[in-house]
Amino acid sequence: MRSVPIDFVRASEAALADPVLHASVRRAMVRFRDLQRAVIEEVPDWQALREHAHRVKMHTLAHLDRYLEQLDERVTAAGGRVHWARDAGEAQRIIADLVRARGGRAVVKSKSMTSEEIELNTALQAAGCQVVETDLGEYLVQLAGDRPAHLIAPAIHRSTEEIARLLADRLGVPVHDDPAELTRTVRRVLRRTFLSADVGITGVNFAVAETGTLVIVENEGNARLTTTLPRMHIALMGVEKVIPRLADLAVFLTLLPRAATGQRLSSYVSWITGPRRPGEGDGPEELHLVILDNGRSGIAADPVMAEALACIRCGACLDVCPVFERTAGHAYGSVYSGPIGAVITPLLRGLDAAAQLPFASSLCGACGEICPVRIDLPRLLLELRARVMSRGWSGPMERMFVRGWTAVMARASRLRVAGRMARWALRALQGRRVLPYPLSAWVRYRDLPAPPADAFRDRWQKIRSSGGAQP
Ligand code: SF4
Repeated sequence: MRSVPIDFVRASEAALADPVLHASVRRAMVRFRDLQRAVIEEVPDWQALREHAHRVKMHTLAHLDRYLEQLDERVTAAGGRVHWARDAGEAQRIIADLVRARGGRAVVKSKSMTSEEIELNTALQAAGCQVVETDLGEYLVQLAGDRPAHLIAPAIHRSTEEIARLLADRLGVPVHDDPAELTRTVRRVLRRTFLSADVGITGVNFAVAETGTLVIVENEGNARLTTTLPRMHIALMGVEKVIPRLADLAVFLTLLPRAATGQRLSSYVSWITGPRRPGEGDGPEELHLVILDNGRSGIAADPVMAEALACIRCGACLDVCPVFERTAGHAYGSVYSGPIGAVITPLLRGLDAAAQLPFASSLCGACGEICPVRIDLPRLLLELRARVMSRGWSGPMERMFVRGWTAVMARASRLRVAGRMARWALRALQGRRVLPYPLSAWVRYRDLPAPPADAFRDRWQKIRSSGGAQP
């Protein structure tokens, strides 16, 4: 991964200034949230399932070495080959060598955030391979020379009109505004690509240590074609994708589609245990599993942050995040965006490269509430903020503000006076667009909040004296 410091503030300003981008992301977020809510509410033991999934993940992370060794043994016993990659460069080399050894040049890929993380396409193209993404959103993103904006909806930031123009421009087809026709166009192109591919590369949603089974969850059927049509299948997974037993899958396969796309079941769930066996009609002749560390063992060893590795990449925390909704995925400067991106990117790339990201949150808590594996994202964000501050990386304005805040909060009398002054100032400044810094930055994209009529303390007194009734 690149180590250029991520300037979230500047990048989000560009996103905020783009109304088409904002409208596309917002439309998709609202739709996702409605779908998710309906199917989550119909599971009576949703909280118990989340709790169970959390426990399984945390147990696995605490015994990662044991389960990864078992996975290696079982995949090998089933006829596959396992490769270990310490970092992105090593994973790129392993995969490029495998493709070369097969004499292959044409590679089809199904969606994999881990491959985005290691910039696999760039490495394979440099090695002379032609790589084609086969997930619809990923294909559009690749065609545009762009990066995914969302964990499960990579092209969420593009409007239908933009996609129609993109396909017309790159594929020489007429401009259509019918999404179904646009999908048919891409499908026709991809069908030919699948048939001529030498190698298929996929990610892995879950890798079962007990059986050596790789589980891939998808909705388009392209992962299934990627794993069965080419003669070689290479699966790439981060170490955290291992789970102990087949029985655990029932829980994860209930949680993932509901939290991700608001579906009760995903359209396709592929269970792959080894390559094609003698007598079988389809499937690859070779199966390779590349297990990537790339900083993950360091996170697993961090007693506070290990929880971040429990993520099953459902994207639900992005869908409820008010910051993601306004800034869209690219502002996070990483393939991992939204609340989980604000946690995982600084851990993978280092705090010095991503110090702004833990602050890209309103700490409203919605991400922690929705997460199907109950990752306490607000707590992790706060911990990272504390780590940034302990390095002394805050600006002079911020330090001054925190010192002032601390002084005010130390005495009830000061808080009372400060509250009165703040309400008076808010009333005086209502509706004004030209304000001194730092308020000028605030009103560039939003209005000043309306002041409450009186202090909470006074309202509380009235409630108490009226016997608890609303005053
Ligand atoms: S942190 Fe939780 S909600 Fe966010 S993508 Fe990961 S599993 Fe989904």
